[in-house]
Amino acid sequence: MRDANTGFDPTRRRWLQRTGIALSAAALAPLPFAAHAAIDPRSRLILLGTAGGPTPKPDRAAPASAVVVDGVIYVVDCGNGVARQMVQARLDLGAIRHVFITHQHSDHNADYGNLLWLAWAARLHTRVDTWGPPPLAAMTRDFLRMNDYDIQTRIKDEGRPPLAPLIVPHELSKAGVVMRDERVKVTAALVAHPPVAPAFAYRFDCPDRSIVFSGDTRPTPALVELARNADVLVHEVMYEPALAKLIASEPNAERLREHLLASHTTTEQVGRIATEAGVKTLVLNHFVPGGDPALTDQVWRDAVAPHFKGRLVIGRDLLEM
Ligand SMILES: [Zn+2]
Ligand SMILES: [Zn+2]
Repeated sequence: MRDANTGFDPTRRRWLQRTGIALSAAALAPLPFAAHAAIDPRSRLILLGTAGGPTPKPDRAAPASAVVVDGVIYVVDCGNGVARQMVQARLDLGAIRHVFITHQHSDHNADYGNLLWLAWAARLHTRVDTWGPPPLAAMTRDFLRMNDYDIQTRIKDEGRPPLAPLIVPHELSKAGVVMRDERVKVTAALVAHPPVAPAFAYRFDCPDRSIVFSGDTRPTPALVELARNADVLVHEVMYEPALAKLIASEPNAERLREHLLASHTTTEQVGRIATEAGVKTLVLNHFVPGGDPALTDQVWRDAVAPHFKGRLVIGRDLLEM
């Protein structure tokens, strides 16, 4: 079952999923035993990019995740490089059906248009609904206008369908059920991430489990409610002891420090939130600060574990669970 070009073995991936072990496709080694009887779970969660903040990082890609149910892809956030991260994860760009933006910060939306445009240049030719705060509709329109030369060229030269009618943006301004189809129900909560508003967390109720994405937020009761008894909570995290070093290198140090503490969630807080919500698995994501080799997985684990007794996963790019 191994793909000769990629070394990727889908049977082994399913076995890994079933046992709760997750590895990137590139890390897969030969099968330890016959796993053909493994049952394919209906939902997949793939972390595509786990950095936090707008500057590119050497060790992690910008924020983006994918939920895949029965082969249909729901993307959450479109940080820089999301299309390539999806290809790295062996996800079919043509299978994107919905895109959710948590909030309009560049680390979460820089490749919103690029993802759809590049997927269309690959093999996307079906409708994609996009969901997020204003000005999502204007961003969609302006992006298509900015890239009209290439789009028109490919329509004429390569026989592609017009791109604009395929993208259907929906601007969100309040909490509640956002979208429901035959596979998932998506519910939004308003979170506190000043000065950006509205900012959303999203909960995916899939056939086999529930997955919650915090987006960027400081501790917010609405997020605890949204995540109540969820199977998986993917939550942003900030390591406060390392902030001094991060801030020292910035020209606008004091403002940045104020923003970080007023708008994000520390390691201790994220553990307490996961405990209060009663989630089974907490997945750390959107690591701030990033790119610091001293902040090993063990550092993050030691900072959160005293505050959460469930399963704790230190997120990394292309991790699947
Ligand atoms: Zn962010
Ligand atoms: Zn943000």
